[in-house]
Amino acid sequence: MKFRMNDNEWEIKEISNAEMNDMFGENGYTDGVTNYTHHMIYINNDILDKKRTLYHELMHCFLYEYGHNQNADKSFSYDDVCEVSACSHDMIHEIVEEYFKEVEFEDFSRKYSCKSNAEICRDMQREVLEEETKKKKNKKSA
Ligand SMILES: [Zn+2]
Repeated sequence: MKFRMNDNEWEIKEISNAEMNDMFGENGYTDGVTNYTHHMIYINNDILDKKRTLYHELMHCFLYEYGHNQNADKSFSYDDVCEVSACSHDMIHEIVEEYFKEVEFEDFSRKYSCKSNAEICRDMQREVLEEETKKKKNKKSA
């Protein structure tokens, strides 16, 4: 999924752990990576906690785009952390929500197809009956 941060286009892509190792010349487990040069966020799709990882990587992206230092030799004060969180929260939350809405769409539709045709018919009949009852009530009160 593509998104914009500080008017720059970024992309979130899920890749396997093997692809992650190939790409970064490592041989272990990396949950996520933010690539500032190519404006890419890679999420390891072999992990369970993708949402937390995406929040984490989007914070790197936010800090990069809005000029906050990410050098190990400089540290953030408590108040810096609170301010960064306050400024980034809505933006990052919206991107994560949008991302998982897209990703989970398939699962969502599967949930609906679990209903048998008979169940769907029954639900529709119930809705029609309720609608007719409402109309009758409205006529009486008019
Ligand atoms: Zn990190």
